[in-house]
Amino acid sequence: KTLLEVKNVSKHFGNGTKALSNIDFTVKEGEFVSIIGPSGAGKSTLLRCINRMIDASSGEIIFDNDHVYKVNKRELKKVRRKIGMVFQHYNLVNRLSVIENTLHGRLGYKSTLAGILGLYSEEEKLQAAKLLQILGLEDLIYKRSDQLSGGQKQRVGIARALIQNPKLLLCDEPIASLDPNSSKVIMDHLRDICTSMGITVVVNLHQVDVALKYSDRIIGVNSGKVVFNGTTQNITSND
Ligand code: ADP
Ligand code: ADP
Repeated sequence: KTLLEVKNVSKHFGNGTKALSNIDFTVKEGEFVSIIGPSGAGKSTLLRCINRMIDASSGEIIFDNDHVYKVNKRELKKVRRKIGMVFQHYNLVNRLSVIENTLHGRLGYKSTLAGILGLYSEEEKLQAAKLLQILGLEDLIYKRSDQLSGGQKQRVGIARALIQNPKLLLCDEPIASLDPNSSKVIMDHLRDICTSMGITVVVNLHQVDVALKYSDRIIGVNSGKVVFNGTTQNITSND
């Protein structure tokens, strides 16, 4: 079953930069897809167009049977809840603890005031604690986020995305700021989230070897265009 369909998507920025040109691909439910390409290829723009953090200039995106560019504001909010985001620079709130940052992922469901006051239910706190345990952070839940290592911060970023119960996890260069050991831990978690939790994962990477090791499918992007799209089994050294 298709979960995500990107159809003929282009993006031009106001300054004239053509970041994406006629991008086409689909992602199946349960797939682990890596998008690879050099810096400036358009990978980040592509992910941001999928959940409408920015608007594509033209084309169509269908996610879980919703036309992301046709739905009204309320429906878009529902679409976004089903799409978790993980960032290169983690985007944690420094002065908050690990569990508070994790619960921040629930903010979309609550008034901002409730979030600020920390009015989370016992059930939400339990779910946060469970996710943090899965991610190996159970001993750090009350630690301030700015006291964590990069790899630990990224695991909090993943927990914050997962607490929305997403169907799709979009990860924008999640290991680009991490050392090889932490990178492996993060990629192992992402693979496990896909395989064990059944969450579809789309991850921007620039290392081909990592993409080959973890993905079901690789989409190569260069200069805003798809230049390769295939399962990892079909990739030979000639590609
Ligand atoms: P990647 O993630 O593959 O490194 P990006 O999607 O960040 O690539 O960038 C693709 C192209 O779009 C680059 O030329 C970049 O400079 C440009 N770009 C990205 N964001 C903006 C923006 N907000 N305004 C203008 N140009 C942008
Ligand atoms: P502040 O405004 O105090 O810096 P925010 O709560 O706005 O903190 O979050 C900081 C960063 O984290 C922002 O870039 C925001 O987009 C991102 N962010 C916050 N909550 C989420 C979330 N649930 N999922 C993804 N990103 C988030």
